[in-house]
Amino acid sequence: MSSYPETSSEIGTASTTHQASSSSSSPSLLRSCLSRTCGCQIDPSEYLDYKFKYNKNGEAIIPDFTNDTTSASSSLPRIRNPGEHYIDSHNDQPFSFSFGTAEEKGIWMNSGDQAGSIMASLVWLLMTYSAVTVTLLTVTEGIPPILGMIYTFLCTMALASHAKTSLTDPGSVPRAAVPMEEQRRESPSHSMCGQCQTFKPLMSHHCRICNRCVSRMDHHCPWMNNCVGAANLKHFILFLIYTWTCAAYSLVLFGWNYFFCADEDCTFHVLVIHLVRAMTFLCIGAFLFTSSMLMNVTYGLMTGIGTIDRLKKKATNTMSQSDEEPIPLKDVFGIGGYHTWLLPVDPVFDDYDRVMGYSMPQRLLREQQFMEQASLKAQMEGGAGTVEMT
Ligand SMILES: [Zn+2]
Ligand SMILES: [Zn+2]
Repeated sequence: MSSYPETSSEIGTASTTHQASSSSSSPSLLRSCLSRTCGCQIDPSEYLDYKFKYNKNGEAIIPDFTNDTTSASSSLPRIRNPGEHYIDSHNDQPFSFSFGTAEEKGIWMNSGDQAGSIMASLVWLLMTYSAVTVTLLTVTEGIPPILGMIYTFLCTMALASHAKTSLTDPGSVPRAAVPMEEQRRESPSHSMCGQCQTFKPLMSHHCRICNRCVSRMDHHCPWMNNCVGAANLKHFILFLIYTWTCAAYSLVLFGWNYFFCADEDCTFHVLVIHLVRAMTFLCIGAFLFTSSMLMNVTYGLMTGIGTIDRLKKKATNTMSQSDEEPIPLKDVFGIGGYHTWLLPVDPVFDDYDRVMGYSMPQRLLREQQFMEQASLKAQMEGGAGTVEMT
């Protein structure tokens, strides 16, 4: 236990400093071990310079995962036990308060696309306009306050989902991405992206606006000013659902007022009536658009074919030959409680690598260490058992 690294900087720290492999035999040993694990060649001077501790024979000391897995003081990320999940927050990168879509940026934001920025701002403008109109209706006693409050709540949820969709990394593939264990077993060759020069997971596409490869990319949405991919599809669906509900809600409200209520109480104030008329057209447009997008997304989930893939397949008449599997809802909304499904919070996936379609050398190394440790433990237990029996 004394060899257990105390800080995260001691283990798994990717260092960009160049270290000659001849200076120490230990890193080169680890690299050969890594290249065997990953089945790939990655520039070791850039990514895989792990500062493990080594024993006298130059062998890497495997930390003891088994004794201290529940301790909060443990700096190592826990390896997944059956039925459990883990969030890999150990990304070896210091957080930087910078916006962009490049790998080293701290906060994901598409700032290069002006049309997208304008369209995303327009969503906020129109939503705020509709909320103000409904609030004015309640103030002028055109509708009961409770109905206005419900609308404002729905509007807030829609805007929160919009912000989350725009500012969440849709599943960009990092430079150090490698195929998963199963993918390597199934096929010796894997596709690469010509632009990113990275491993290209299945169902991922290169987005020219984000300038990145995005896992399970559905499409690049200018209204969100972001790609819709594996990691932010949940927020996008929530935005569609809340916006659809907002539009349907106001149309029912205005329709009821217009067709079924002739009383003096139901007459809207003359100042608000023009705002309501404009909002009615806006709501009809929003209702039709979000309905078609919701059908689009649902079709994508049911068939497992995203919007881009579907367009490609339709163009080449290969729709009937597709063998994609439907996407399970837990791969979109996560395995948290059902209440988290309706909130724009990041989903937690049971197997992050499987959902994203790639793995990372760090994660593979940890898995390998865990397997070695488990087999060592089993051997030791087996040995002890034999001693007892004899
Ligand atoms: Zn790419
Ligand atoms: Zn994009």
